[in-house]
Amino acid sequence: MKKVVGAGGGPAGSVAALAAARNGAKTVLIERGECLGGVASSGGLSVWGPFDDGDRLLDWDRDAAIENGRMLSPEMRIGKRIIKGIPEEILARLLKMHGAIDYKYGFIPVNPELLKLVLEEMLIEAGVDIRYGGQIYDVSVSENTITSVFMADKSGSREIRGDIFIDATGDADIAALTGAPFEKGRKSDGKMQGVTLVFRLGGTDFPGRFYQSRENIRDAEIKFKEAYERGETGHLYQVGCINRIPGMDGVVAVNSQHSFNIDATRPEELKKAILTGRKECHELAALFRKYLKGFENSCLLDTAIFIGVRETRRIVGKYVITREDIFSAREFADSIGRNAYNIDIHIPETEIKGEICLKPGTSYSIPYRALLPQKTGNLLVAGRSISATHEAQSSLRIMPCCMVTGQAAGTAAALCAGSGVPPADLKVEMLQKKLREQNVCL
Ligand SMILES: Cc1cc2nc3c(=O)[nH]c(=O)nc-3n(C[C@H](O)[C@H](O)[C@H](O)COP(=O)(O)OP(=O)(O)OC[C@H]3O[C@@H](n4cnc5c(N)ncnc54)[C@H](O)[C@@H]3O)c2cc1C
Repeated sequence: MKKVVGAGGGPAGSVAALAAARNGAKTVLIERGECLGGVASSGGLSVWGPFDDGDRLLDWDRDAAIENGRMLSPEMRIGKRIIKGIPEEILARLLKMHGAIDYKYGFIPVNPELLKLVLEEMLIEAGVDIRYGGQIYDVSVSENTITSVFMADKSGSREIRGDIFIDATGDADIAALTGAPFEKGRKSDGKMQGVTLVFRLGGTDFPGRFYQSRENIRDAEIKFKEAYERGETGHLYQVGCINRIPGMDGVVAVNSQHSFNIDATRPEELKKAILTGRKECHELAALFRKYLKGFENSCLLDTAIFIGVRETRRIVGKYVITREDIFSAREFADSIGRNAYNIDIHIPETEIKGEICLKPGTSYSIPYRALLPQKTGNLLVAGRSISATHEAQSSLRIMPCCMVTGQAAGTAAALCAGSGVPPADLKVEMLQKKLREQNVCL
């Protein structure tokens, strides 16, 4: 049986491996950490972006929207679900275990511990051979075709041979090792989005009193500013995003700390961000306890295992998705799935900060060609490093969309492995038919 080798067990890679195995390929998944889920587990970020094309509201913004009279009609608000397939199956399993809250629109809080378990169960059921603790550091390429990847684990170096490879490392590590072209950051100066060390607080009264007054956040931020001016903190902090964790009463994941001007593919820069990030998480936890209603008795439970990286390498593939494609809700003939998330760039001085680019009720399609590196050989890319501009990536990077690209990459990989056809020559109609059969919205 032909073999598919997947790299990276984040939202994209886990779903890609599952799709490859379900579509008949012998599948190995290599993950450097010790769980699946990527940013959703090791990164501590417990909230998925929207599965629907309705109002794109964060869990706690829903209440603010009601207060501000910004409520849309129920149809517009809820919209329609445009992300189904495997992501919807994972969500259904989580809901059964009370490991997610399905508001039917907007962001979806998810329990990271249950997510790890559900993903492992699903991949094992499908027969995926999961290899934890192995970091891919090299590839062997012959005539434009990858013959194997090399990973380092506790037993030393191993060579993993395969027929089709899926790069879902987030950083396009395999693509870069093969010499495939890639870009980093924005056109003007190469700046990438900030990285964030997420931390969890326990013992909070969230949502409780936090919700009762929208002034709470504004007051806290004034106090954060005063604390900074008094020299109490080394940095001017904002409250940022506070995400509840289903099934963990009083526990929240906080996405507030940011480090900018970091290239997370450079270990020295990453180390700097981790060390600063940890110190800042402790300062933030103290500020929350002191100045945020409902957090008086809170304590810092942990900082995430891996710092959260929003953006590094993006392959320059057979098609590069642009901001205009997203703004115009473009329909591609080789669509492999859809997304409806905003352009959301975490760089303080970006000119399109916080822009809501899609009207409720609209979504855009994702072309298969964006998963194919130039001179693709036998490699597909899934997740946040697919072929897109800096602006477009800030929309595509959202976890449900990464899962969508994962399902397409895994299904395509299995079809290619089974037929001996390289990914660039795969008849897209055949892939689309398979995806439709598996309940994917194209
Ligand atoms: C702070 C932060 C907040 C965010 N907020 C949200 C949000 O609210 N909602 C949302 O939907 N999205 C959010 N995102 C975006 C989203 O989490 C990421 O873009 C998404 O997780 C990317 O998925 P991925 O599978 O491509 O990569 P990742 O989640 O980064 O997973 C990549 C996996 O590959 C593994 N890996 C990497 N290199 C190697 C290697 N060489 N060998 C083996 N394994 C390797 C890693 O350990 C990891 O498990 C946020 C991101 C960050 C950082």
